[in-house]
Amino acid sequence: SVPLAFFSGIGAGSKRGILFKGGVSIEGIKNIAAVVMDKTGTITEGNFVVQQAIPTSGVDEAKLLALAASCELTSTHPIGNSIVTAAEERGLSVERPASAREIAGKGIEAILSDGTVLCGNRSLLESQNVDLDGYKNDHYGTEVLLALDGKFIGYLVISDTIKADAVDAIAKIKRLGIRTAMLTGDAQESAEVVAKATGIDEVHAKLLPEDKLSELQAIRKAQGGVMFVGDGINDAPVLAGADVGAAMGSGADAAIEAADVVFMNSSVEAIPQAIEIGRKTSRIAW
Ligand code: ADP
Ligand code: MG
Repeated sequence: SVPLAFFSGIGAGSKRGILFKGGVSIEGIKNIAAVVMDKTGTITEGNFVVQQAIPTSGVDEAKLLALAASCELTSTHPIGNSIVTAAEERGLSVERPASAREIAGKGIEAILSDGTVLCGNRSLLESQNVDLDGYKNDHYGTEVLLALDGKFIGYLVISDTIKADAVDAIAKIKRLGIRTAMLTGDAQESAEVVAKATGIDEVHAKLLPEDKLSELQAIRKAQGGVMFVGDGINDAPVLAGADVGAAMGSGADAAIEAADVVFMNSSVEAIPQAIEIGRKTSRIAW
């Protein structure tokens, strides 16, 4: 049977848009030693905007953006959506690719009439031995690099914003005596900018979906119970592998299904609130 106190915990949560899927999810919270968070869509809004298109050889700005948008036409990733939107806003003609393949945590490879285009992060281009001459990586934000038939042609600078409540929420989590960490598929530089701005203790960047789970297990081994908070399809296995998995309501269906707790308003503030409710409820119940 479910102790009565859990109902009060479930009620307190629902007032704040925190959906506990059952008594177990509240109960697990009291043993949390670390909160491990995804970056994009969890600590940041995930509302990417293309700021610049910087060609390095052979193409102009418009062509660079049009090629990227063609690659991203069928992508559901927030980065891909922002690229398609930017091309539409500029009235560029975008071509439906003969074929396109999404490489999770890296980007897209597409066959276009101009040739084979790679559109994604540095590790995507490096994995195909593209020479990145002329690329400096000195902009704030996420950068999407492009190669045409194996030749680096330029990159897009895309920015995302940190959620307004993130700084306060992270400080609250730390005041509860809990360690904070971030796991992201994004580059080290942009990961560090976000961690520094929000006060997150520990950062692991450039992670593929499967690496996120092994990092989580390492943190759990070193520190004890872990709560993981994420939003993406690539976060579903990590959510399932955590002691408490929490998904942002704005996230992918797979993430919401895999989670024990859902933050309906997608705020970072919901994390310390859920922890406080979990602790109070457990004190009453046991
Ligand atoms: P996070 O773990 O922070 O939520 P993701 O794992 O979704 O981030 O993505 C990791 C990185 O992979 C992105 O920062 C981006 O550099 C690259 N990437 C993923 N999907 C795409 C795409 N469709 N187009 C371009 N780049 C992509
Ligand atoms: Mg994410």
